Amino acid sequence: MGNKLDDVTESRFSDEALGRARSELAHVARVSSLCTLTASIAHEVNQPLTGIATSAGTCVRMLDADPPDLTGARTTALRILRDTNRASAVVARLRALFAKKAPTLEVVDLNEAAREVTALSSSELQRAEVILRQEFADHLPPLTGDRVQLQQVILNLLLNAADAMRAVDDRPRQLIIGTRLDRPDRVILFVQDVGTGFEPQRADKLFEPFHTTKSDVMGIGLSVSRSIIESHHGRLWAMLNDGPGATFAFSIPCGPASSSDAGGVSAR
Ligand code: ADP
Repeated sequence: MGNKLDDVTESRFSDEALGRARSELAHVARVSSLCTLTASIAHEVNQPLTGIATSAGTCVRMLDADPPDLTGARTTALRILRDTNRASAVVARLRALFAKKAPTLEVVDLNEAAREVTALSSSELQRAEVILRQEFADHLPPLTGDRVQLQQVILNLLLNAADAMRAVDDRPRQLIIGTRLDRPDRVILFVQDVGTGFEPQRADKLFEPFHTTKSDVMGIGLSVSRSIIESHHGRLWAMLNDGPGATFAFSIPCGPASSSDAGGVSAR
């Protein structure tokens, strides 16, 4: 009896340790995508800052004029305000995505979550000469889950797809991200590329931790992504396209109680 209690306690402790380790790993995976995005993020923040500096100069000149151009100065000040809001929105989105935060369950609009991630990665995709097409289904039912964790998965799939097309020069590097309803109670998100694909017998290996074909990364993105999707009672898989490239997709039950333990991925 005593032993059994010890076993239970021990297994609870090891569950907690496992949860903490996963949380650390998920965070490391997020930070490594952050590194990939650094140049684009700098660009996203720098653009409004340049606008602010220019407008501030214009505003001062308008106020210094004789007589001062108050209407012009006011309009320019409003432009400064708009650019400031733009810059802080980028920072807020980044903070939400990369901060170390306990998992939370909320109602998630998958289309909106995915649109935010594509906006954040759009200049990175442009730099990689990727043509992004968005095919989000209308009237997609919401799901319950951890929004940031799901965004991490989407970001990982997008960056992987862009990587897989890096060597493609003989066709447009087209990437499609989309959603659709699968039966009345599941939503699917897919990311389709025209990259190099993978050998069919390696399909399952891709999801193993530390499996990578790249030289400068850890190869934990897909394994962390799969554990996030599974904690949402969903499934994440890879398929080869009929034409070139691969499609990665996940499906998650939707509705109010679609996830009861997204926290399983991370420590509380
Ligand atoms: P990483 O991207 O750090 O290597 P991941 O776990 O995200 O780690 O991916 C593991 C491996 O799966 C990649 O190194 C790559 O070989 C393969 N892979 C992932 N996404 C794609 C894709 N869209 N097309 C082809 N291979 C892919």
